[in-house]
Amino acid sequence: MAQNKKNKQESNDSLDYNESSTYRKIKCDTFTIEGFSRAPVMTFWRIPEFKLGFDLGWQPWEFMGSPKWFISHCHMDHVLALPAYLARRRMMLMDPPTLYVPEQKVGDLRQFIAAFCKLEQSALPCDIIGVRPGDELDLSRELVATVHKTYHTVPSVGYIVWERRKKLKPEYLELTGEQIRDLNLAGVEISYEIRFPRVAFLGDSSARGLDENPDMYRADALITEMTHLRVPANGGAQLKGHMQLDDYVARQDKFQNKKIILSHVSIRYPQNDIERQLKIKLPGLLDGRIELV
Ligand SMILES: [Zn+2]
Ligand SMILES: [Zn+2]
Repeated sequence: MAQNKKNKQESNDSLDYNESSTYRKIKCDTFTIEGFSRAPVMTFWRIPEFKLGFDLGWQPWEFMGSPKWFISHCHMDHVLALPAYLARRRMMLMDPPTLYVPEQKVGDLRQFIAAFCKLEQSALPCDIIGVRPGDELDLSRELVATVHKTYHTVPSVGYIVWERRKKLKPEYLELTGEQIRDLNLAGVEISYEIRFPRVAFLGDSSARGLDENPDMYRADALITEMTHLRVPANGGAQLKGHMQLDDYVARQDKFQNKKIILSHVSIRYPQNDIERQLKIKLPGLLDGRIELV
């Protein structure tokens, strides 16, 4: 009896297995940003309410339920967990997921997955969609994603996820429900679409990626990178394609976001150094909006 109870407990433990202690959960209005990012170790984020994620540098067990992933670029710390994600979804009999990836890397990514299929002697089904800046991706009736140019050392993009709603055109505001229904039946377009930028994901980029995509400054939540606290000792080469603390100091009046998730900090900096430098250099932004991850 005692043995049975122990076995049941073990099986429950394995069903309840989750890795939530390894990443952050940040609430922003009606949605949650879950994930973690350290350069050059791993970057992974998801918004469970929107059923999507950004980058696959790691894949906590419970993240496999999110069926759409937006990949910013293909550096190791942003795609390493992709085969695990695909294999787990197949194993759990979930539908093949959709991966959005910079179009220049679609072929290489297919080869990467094909190598794992050979190793596993099994298929890793997924839909891979190549994207380029300016693309719009229909996700659902309520959500649409846009693709944005960013500046890194390899082909890269950023993403904004928008919530869209239909609003009645001003000229029809006075009409009765019946009149509106009749116009609808007659095929008249009586409404227009308004969009709200909910989440922006910069990926890895220099500050130019933010400046050239000002909607990122307006998103409710901005997931952005601050790889360096200062110019690295070996000069500016490592700064190329990344942001540093001074980039935020210079732009602190631009951020209208409710949450600014500062992430991808290099592991070269101790946590207390990061926090101290933020307090010294960015006191104006420390009004509860910054989340240092
Ligand atoms: Zn990175
Ligand atoms: Zn990178």
